[in-house]
Amino acid sequence: MIVAIDGPAGAGKSTVARALAERLGFRYLDTGAMYRALTWLAMQRGVDLSDADTLTQLALQEPVTFKDESRVWIAGMDITSSIREQRIDRMVSVVARHPGVREIMRDRQRELGEQGDVVIEGRDIGTVVAPAAEVKVYLVADRDERARRRTADRPGIGADALATDLRIRDEKDAERMKPADDAREIDTTHSSVDEVVDKIEALVREHVSA
Ligand code: C5P
Repeated sequence: MIVAIDGPAGAGKSTVARALAERLGFRYLDTGAMYRALTWLAMQRGVDLSDADTLTQLALQEPVTFKDESRVWIAGMDITSSIREQRIDRMVSVVARHPGVREIMRDRQRELGEQGDVVIEGRDIGTVVAPAAEVKVYLVADRDERARRRTADRPGIGADALATDLRIRDEKDAERMKPADDAREIDTTHSSVDEVVDKIEALVREHVSA
């Protein structure tokens, strides 16, 4: 079974998706980490981030891999913490917008999602990567709350700068952030992680018993 969890930055996708996967004994796939890893490598190699062909080649030649579920590797390097830096937050949407890059990522995400039960989080999982996912959820939260959560994730960066970064990234990601028609929208603004996970678990159980 595939559980697709989409939504904007700070809506709670990663925390919820990880907790849900653990609770259900499903694998977990973080597709944002794949775009972040490619962005990190492109910047490290000095690739022009508007050069679609070179980025597409790079995505093809240097696949992102996951070790022990949560460690992110590319080109023989463990870059798990580097991909959460602010410079990656700021540039990842520029890399993710190239259709050639997205095609390669989509195919790889499908391959990784094929092996048994999995929770996949991203922006276009319910619409593009896994339109046949058995359970689709679209998480949302008020922008102030999303910015506040980001501040907790990125200590040392001012709240105003983070709120601005979030707004700009939302605008760049907007075309890939449409909920699937059959996704269940869950507003996480005033909910605990456990409450959100409970709701999604109930949807999974509903599906299993249907
Ligand atoms: O979820 P996360 O914040 O790690 O995603 C980083 C970026 O990767 C997003 O802002 C978006 O530009 C891109 N992304 C995407 N499609 C996905 C997942 C992430 O375009 N399925």
